[in-house]
Amino acid sequence: MRKIKCEHCGLWTHGDRQTCNYCGEVTDERYKQEVSKRNKINPFEFRFVKIYAIDPWWLKSGKSFLYIAQLIFFAVVSVIVYLSSIFVH
Ligand SMILES: [Zn+2]
Repeated sequence: MRKIKCEHCGLWTHGDRQTCNYCGEVTDERYKQEVSKRNKINPFEFRFVKIYAIDPWWLKSGKSFLYIAQLIFFAVVSVIVYLSSIFVH
């Protein structure tokens, strides 16, 4: 079993695990970098607006409108892609 010293609490913990046994912090730097890389917004990924329960009513209605607009946009794009796949040969 590989043991590594936790950089957060200073205790020796399992090196094969990505988080510290004692404080729960991430010990593996490579894993940490991978996580932060994945958390970054991917410009090619289509993201819908997230509506939270704690949002005020004006923000909720604004986001709902934006969400519907996104759905319509997505539907229109899908139709265009579908049509172009039929006619472009
Ligand atoms: Zn720790």
